[in-house]
Amino acid sequence: MNYDKNNIFAKILRGEIPCKKIYEDEFVLAFYDVNPQKKIHALVIPKGEYVNLDDFSSKASEKEIVGLIKGIGAVAKKLGISEVAKGRGYRSLVNVGENGGQEVPHLHFHIFGGEKVGKMVS
Ligand code: AMP
Repeated sequence: MNYDKNNIFAKILRGEIPCKKIYEDEFVLAFYDVNPQKKIHALVIPKGEYVNLDDFSSKASEKEIVGLIKGIGAVAKKLGISEVAKGRGYRSLVNVGENGGQEVPHLHFHIFGGEKVGKMVS
């Protein structure tokens, strides 16, 4: 799977274009989606170069995999929407490839919250 180093999230990771940062650690960067679909819409991306979840699940190290999952939890907590943070919950999803509706070829988890997210798939 070829990774395109010029995709928009790669540029955000290199600091070449700005983002509204929410959280960052060794493994992930999280920022607000530029076109929010819900009251709160965040994106969590791994710092490594992975095209999608297939690529990540087959090539990422165990540390990176744990780091990404922990990062998603940390972001939900920081946003105040996780049940751990006494929030009301949220939805996290990842689109993979053409049928999944993936537009940006760098793995990203969406986090939706701040209101009832609604039907799971439309
Ligand atoms: P997907 O369809 O799963 O690939 O989602 C890509 C998401 O990236 C969409 O929700 C876009 O609104 C979002 N997006 C695209 N460019 C940017 C950007 N520069 N900053 C933040 N979010 C972006």
